[in-house]
Amino acid sequence: MTDYPHPSGRPDSRRVAIASPPWPVHCFLLIMAALCAVAALRSRPPAAIPDAPQTGSSAEIVPQIASYEPPPPPAGAEFELVSVEQPAPPPSSLGEPYDIVVRLPRGNTPGDVLDEIGIADDDRVAAVTALEHLLKKRRLAAGEKLKLSLQPSVDADDYPLLLSLQVRPEPEREYVITRQDDGSYDGDVTIYKVHPRIVRVATRRVDSLLASGVRAGAPADALREFIKALSYDVDFERELKPNAPFALLLEEGVTSDGRLARPGRLLAGELELTRRSVTVIAFTPLHGARQFYTPDGNSVVRAFLRTPMDASHISSPFGRRRHPILGYSRMHEGVDFAAPKGTPILAAGRGTVVRAGYYGGYGLYVELQHTATIATAYGHMSRLGRGIRPGVHVHQGQVMGYVGATGLATGPHLHYEFHRRGRPVNPLTQRASIRRHLAGSDLKRFTALVRQYRAQLHSAPLIGAALH
Ligand SMILES: [Zn+2]
Repeated sequence: MTDYPHPSGRPDSRRVAIASPPWPVHCFLLIMAALCAVAALRSRPPAAIPDAPQTGSSAEIVPQIASYEPPPPPAGAEFELVSVEQPAPPPSSLGEPYDIVVRLPRGNTPGDVLDEIGIADDDRVAAVTALEHLLKKRRLAAGEKLKLSLQPSVDADDYPLLLSLQVRPEPEREYVITRQDDGSYDGDVTIYKVHPRIVRVATRRVDSLLASGVRAGAPADALREFIKALSYDVDFERELKPNAPFALLLEEGVTSDGRLARPGRLLAGELELTRRSVTVIAFTPLHGARQFYTPDGNSVVRAFLRTPMDASHISSPFGRRRHPILGYSRMHEGVDFAAPKGTPILAAGRGTVVRAGYYGGYGLYVELQHTATIATAYGHMSRLGRGIRPGVHVHQGQVMGYVGATGLATGPHLHYEFHRRGRPVNPLTQRASIRRHLAGSDLKRFTALVRQYRAQLHSAPLIGAALH
């Protein structure tokens, strides 16, 4: 189907006639139809041949629409034998029906389009009224495709007849108005069911994961989710090489006739790093929200260690308190963990050292930046861990230093702070610090899903395949 160019001038029936399909294409069908019609017409008087257009002649459209209800055949009993799949013999003053597709120009209404094409005023008003009734308050966007079925008059000066108008502003809904015997227009809506369809994208990282994935056909939203899910565990700077292969498994919504109704939602993703491959799996536990998990059932959401030490107890909680040395009441911006001097202090999560050294009342102090908004800090250390200095990347659980009593401290303890957007918050109430692990029936369901997704990541149809 070609797009009909926006006619710039006044209605011109010759131009419309040019757009009609070439005669030989329909020759065979027409002969078949004529034979049928001749059989049908044999028993009736010639005077009964109607001049009115035949709604049954919208044969161009019918076979393309899965659930389209063909309009009822013309009322005259003599036409009941004529199938809607075959064009009816054109009445003497009308030519062969044909279809055109017109994109709605900016600022125009379907009525304007019908006007440009040269539809008679009465028909145009009736058709537009029927369409508006069908669309209710919905307005058609510029560029929307209008599919028109027209029947030219043999007399070149006469208006073409509008047999039907179809528009599908969303993949699930198609609106059709069809001309009836009496010259009125009836409206009908066809609803297309949307089915889930599992597809994959498999490509390599050339510039960024996002740009490379979008080029391969993945929706940007799915890629962003993928990158975020990976970011808790992957050091993109160090572990990701150019040309690293990656794959996404997506579930998109497709109408019964193959149109994309919903862009793909991320089910699973796989990325090859220099020394390992990382897989993330989307899962919704029975009592919880959808999130991403590692294949062994751990939430990918950055798992901050709840306590950055083994074997410790809280000696002073977060909040306002009387300072043990300064003597006056002030905010305690962290949590104190009592532990013997020399106990190793562990990085709460993967991050970068932004400060390591003496820092006022904090004594020997280390601060880690984990994400753009999350940082942790460790004070009163007796000494720093091996290799800990600003700019160094650390992994979760790496030793940052050892418990001491440097700075304003009455005895050996760790002062631990958790910063969100530069402000200290209670480390013990941070949701990010709680690692979710699937268990029970969730884990069972998840494990089966992981098997399925891992296979599909290599076997599902590639995105865009077999779509119309
Ligand atoms: Zn403290």
